[in-house]
Amino acid sequence: MDSAQFLCKVVLIGDSGVGKTSILNKRIYEKFTFHTTHTELGQMNSLKLKINGIDITLKLWDTAGQEKYRTITIQFYRETKGAFLVFDMTNHQSFDNIKFWAKQLRNHGGDDVKKVILANKCDLTDKLAVTEEEITDLAKQINANFFIVSAYNSENIIECFDFMAAELIKNC
Ligand code: GDP
Ligand code: MG
Repeated sequence: MDSAQFLCKVVLIGDSGVGKTSILNKRIYEKFTFHTTHTELGQMNSLKLKINGIDITLKLWDTAGQEKYRTITIQFYRETKGAFLVFDMTNHQSFDNIKFWAKQLRNHGGDDVKKVILANKCDLTDKLAVTEEEITDLAKQINANFFIVSAYNSENIIECFDFMAAELIKNC
């Protein structure tokens, strides 16, 4: 199969401040900062991966702060193949809001978008407000997979992008 076919749009959604931009920064530039700005990355970044010998390019779409007011446009979701639904493990409200984001994704992106929940900031071990059991339940409810990650210490950052890429190759 022509490798150029594996060019897939993936969006990152979730409440403001959960670490969406930080996760992308870490994966693409291998850097982390506590002082993120909305302009550090473009709205769309390409990540080229090789999974089991197959080349795939993920076009990763980050929000530019619109998520704060939940004013993400339909264009943002258009033709997306995958979605990372991100929440902050120290903020239970951001976990509860994953259902809102999953619903928005379903309304704008359709039913066949591959969903991966990212439970971020797992490095903040003394402040964790969400249990793995809760995440497992939610993942089942919205038909998603999940990874417990940290943009700060890199835990599962490579793994979650590789997983998404492998799933998209399967479904292409
Ligand atoms: P976004 O609004 O979802 O894009 O969130 P940002 O990427 O801007 O991150 C919000 C804040 O959380 C920033 O101060 C980040 O440095 C911090 N942050 C992001 N990921 C992590 C993480 O894994 N661990 C810790 N301790 N802080 C994080
Ligand atoms: Mg951001």
